[in-house]
Amino acid sequence: MSLIVQKFGGSSVADAERVFNVAGIVTDTYKKGNDVVVVVSAQGDTTDDLIEKAKEINPDASKREMDMLLTSGEQISISLLAMAIEKLGYPVVSLLGWQAGFNTSSAYGSARIKRVIPDRIKKELDKRNIVIVAGFQGINRYGDMTTLGRGGSDTSAVAIASVMHADLCQIYTDVEGVYTADPRKVPGARKLSEISYDEMLELATLGAQVLNNRSVEMAKKYGVPKKYNIELEVLSSLTKAPGTIVKEAAKVEKMLISGVAKDTNVARISIIGVPDRPGLAFKIFSKLSAKDINVDIILQSIGRHGTKDISFTVTQDKMKEAIQVLEDYKSTIDAENIVCDDKVAKVSIVGAGMETHAGIAAKMFEAMFDAQINIQMIATSEIKISVLIDVSDADRAVNAIHNKFFPSEQD
Ligand code: ASP
Ligand code: MG
Repeated sequence: MSLIVQKFGGSSVADAERVFNVAGIVTDTYKKGNDVVVVVSAQGDTTDDLIEKAKEINPDASKREMDMLLTSGEQISISLLAMAIEKLGYPVVSLLGWQAGFNTSSAYGSARIKRVIPDRIKKELDKRNIVIVAGFQGINRYGDMTTLGRGGSDTSAVAIASVMHADLCQIYTDVEGVYTADPRKVPGARKLSEISYDEMLELATLGAQVLNNRSVEMAKKYGVPKKYNIELEVLSSLTKAPGTIVKEAAKVEKMLISGVAKDTNVARISIIGVPDRPGLAFKIFSKLSAKDINVDIILQSIGRHGTKDISFTVTQDKMKEAIQVLEDYKSTIDAENIVCDDKVAKVSIVGAGMETHAGIAAKMFEAMFDAQINIQMIATSEIKISVLIDVSDADRAVNAIHNKFFPSEQD
């Protein structure tokens, strides 16, 4: 008998038919004699709809009340799934995050899981119940409900799997696994049978929608197979196809890169004409970090005529705040001007093969040149290369790059 954690995303439980489909998968797993803990997201677009509802009432609602509202989405889906499983004749219980022992930091809207105390879950499993847990939520030290940030249910599932030393953690979604690019946008995208935590982490962070990056971080930290034997699998709730296994030492397929990702939640800010002297970058970026504004790609021009320009990217929701910080600071740092652009996108390639193969960057840039797409900024690390481009070029860029690295079989 194994302990299996299964997570189902919003699209997998979008309507009654899908809820019964999930109930079927869960009870099939249970029937085989396994202990099953299920984590669910809110149905379909529920979370987005709730956010819209809040905006109608108060666009500046406090984060506490937002979390009170948003946690209700998962309360609906866990109870409905439990009812479906009851109807199929199996013992089941649904639990909210706090009932399942999810203790989080107090940061409403982006709380971090501090501890999971799975006593209640264990008790229910001992009674041979199937346990359904609300994803994306927990309780903070004030006794308030919190949410983990968008897409947080993946992290809830991995957290339970690691705390309970599960044998397998399955993330069910509406695609069949991790692909070399978004299969909905890139016709030639291929499914990977395995991927390493590091590559998955980069892909998730760079915009691949399939797994939340915090969940991969956590799986990497606790999921070392030798230690707990947790395997993380991404698969579809709608087909029976085998998915993608995410693990430490993934079998290396004969590929230079493992994927192309696109992120459109990016804005570029440029500080034009700052004096070319030491300490300015330090001052600017510490001001931003003091406001919790995370900066991604940074580009600084060579100083000419005593001045230089510094550009960087932030997520779009932080753009206004970042500009405000810089405007307030502009005269202190003697900047000429501050400009921004949110019509940009970041397109990235990820692959462990980069460490050992030269020419991967050149190949990516050649694809961009062939498609006549201008590159605004470039950033690299050991296993990734990102370019910032005009958002209107983004899908074309992803396709061009993907075709370059994964030419279709006929060619
Ligand atoms: N329902 C939440 C969201 O849409 C959490 C999740 O889907 O993982 O962000
Ligand atoms: Mg969702």
